[in-house]
Amino acid sequence: MTDVNRDHEINFAIWQIAESYFIEDDPNICWPWLGGFDSRGTPRFKKNKIYYKARRVILLHHLGLKQSDLYLLTKPECKLQTECCNWNHMFLGTPKQSTALLIDSRRHDSLNRKGEKHPMHILTEEKVLTIRAEYAEGMSYTELSHKYEVAYVLIIKIINRELWNHI
Ligand SMILES: [Zn+2]
Repeated sequence: MTDVNRDHEINFAIWQIAESYFIEDDPNICWPWLGGFDSRGTPRFKKNKIYYKARRVILLHHLGLKQSDLYLLTKPECKLQTECCNWNHMFLGTPKQSTALLIDSRRHDSLNRKGEKHPMHILTEEKVLTIRAEYAEGMSYTELSHKYEVAYVLIIKIINRELWNHI
């Protein structure tokens, strides 16, 4: 997946906004973006009337860069793909690498799609309500985190209504 935005320099204030919309967790699992998206489903946020691509901000900050001309690419093994904020699942690459990766990820997709259950990373209101109900029935944070394939910390925040507090 490609995601280019060379327009705006990233500073600490910008990073802090991005940081408030995901939870850093186990590097081996996906960290879902909990903020808004553009019409194409790309995670983004707004500051001073400027929209920033969240994943680009996150990766550049992690690499200690303010800007880059390279593409933001997602590793094929990343389950959440364009919604993932885990910097271990992203890297910067050339347009050529981007094309190669796209072919690779399509191959990876077609190999893995069969029989694979739909990942539960993307939470819906229904799932959030179910998580709270199952917690009330005695399931632990860890069990829920494994069942829904989301970060442990995310489950805690859902239960404590730090997230999804509108339902
Ligand atoms: Zn991921």
